[in-house]
Amino acid sequence: MQDIRFVPATSFKKKPEDPAKMGFGKLFTDYMFVMDYETGKGWHDARIEPYQNFQMDPATAVLHYGQAIFEGLKAYRRDDGGIQLFRPQANFARMNRSAERMAIPKFDEEVALKGLLKLVEIEKDWVPAGKGTSLYIRPTIIATDPFLGVHASHTYRFFIIVSPSGAYYTSGLAPVNIYVEDNYVRAVRGGVGFAKAAGNYAASLRAAEIAAEKGYTQVLWLDGVEQKYVEEVGAMNMMFVIDGKVVTPMLNGSILPGITRDSILTLSRHLGYEAEERRLSIEEVFAAARAGKLDEAFGTGTAAVVSPVGKLCWKGECVGISGGKIGPITRKLYDTLTGMQYGDLPDEFGWIVRID
Ligand SMILES: *Cc1c(COP(=O)(O)O)cnc(C)c1O
Repeated sequence: MQDIRFVPATSFKKKPEDPAKMGFGKLFTDYMFVMDYETGKGWHDARIEPYQNFQMDPATAVLHYGQAIFEGLKAYRRDDGGIQLFRPQANFARMNRSAERMAIPKFDEEVALKGLLKLVEIEKDWVPAGKGTSLYIRPTIIATDPFLGVHASHTYRFFIIVSPSGAYYTSGLAPVNIYVEDNYVRAVRGGVGFAKAAGNYAASLRAAEIAAEKGYTQVLWLDGVEQKYVEEVGAMNMMFVIDGKVVTPMLNGSILPGITRDSILTLSRHLGYEAEERRLSIEEVFAAARAGKLDEAFGTGTAAVVSPVGKLCWKGECVGISGGKIGPITRKLYDTLTGMQYGDLPDEFGWIVRID
C-alpha cells in the first residue's frame, strides 16, 4: 500500500469557539488529504497537505462536463473525549461504485481510509464536542484534464476536506413539510441516480427552489418513468410507518443507496419492527394517510440522520402526519442510531471505527 506523505502547514486558522455558530460546510480545517491519478501511473502521491486553493485551467474537464463524484460522512466526539467514525468503509465502497458509473478510475479503498484516519487524527482538535455537532467529511473526485473533447479524463484528483459543523437541529427534531414533485424528475432508470454524482444535485435545484417559494422544506421525487412510485427526498431516503410497519422504496438503480437508510433498516429489525423494502406508490401512501394508517414518515441521511415529515402535499392534496410531531418509532430509531454514532450505546454491528 502507498505511504502517505505529510506536508506541514506554516500557518494555522483560529478554531471556532461556539459550536452553535458553526453552521454547516462553511469552515474548513488546516489540512486536506489529496491523491492524483494519471493514465499509466494509476492513483499516486497520496498526501496530507495544507488546505489550499487548486489551480485550474479554464478548460478543465470537470468544469464543462461534470465528471465529479463525492461522499459525505462524519467524525463524532464521544463523551470520554475520543473520536469515532461511522461506517467509513461503506462510503468508500459506494464512492467506487459511483466512480465506475462516471468512468472515473477506481481507487484503493484502504489507502483512502488510511488517509482519512490520518487526516482526522491530525485535525482532532477541530472535532467539536456536543450532541449533534460533528466534523463533516467530504471526499471528492474531479476530472482534471485541460481538454474540451468529450471523453473520460485521463487525469483526476481525489481529495478529502473536513469541516466542523454545528447541530443540524437547533430546536429539536422539527418536522418538515414536503412537496411531492409531479413535474421534474431527479433520476431515471439506467441513469446516474444511484451514484453520488455532482450533477444530480445541479439537476435538483430548480425544483427545490420552486418548492421553497411555496413554503416547503424539501421535494419528494417520484420515479422518472411513470411518476407513480416514491423514490427519495433531496439528500435523504424516505421511510414510512404504515400500519405499524417500516416501509421504504427498494433500491432500483435510480435511488441513492443511503448508508443511513441501510443502518435504519438493520436497526428497525433489531428493535423488533417489521421493515419492508419494496415498490411503494405515492397513491398507496396517500390512501394509507386517508385511512388513518400512515403513522409516521421520515427522511434518512448523514446530515440530519433522521428528519420527521409533518406534512406531505401531492397534486393539491395535503396530509398531516403524526400530528406535526416526531412519531415514537422515528424517535426511537433516531435515539438509537445517534447513540451508537456518539458512542453512548454499544456498537452491536461493527459500524464504528475509533480514532482514539
Ligand atoms: C447522500 C444521499 C443520501 C443519503 O445517503 P447517506 O449515506 O445516508 O448519507 C440520500 N439521497 C441522496 C440523493 C444523496 O445524495
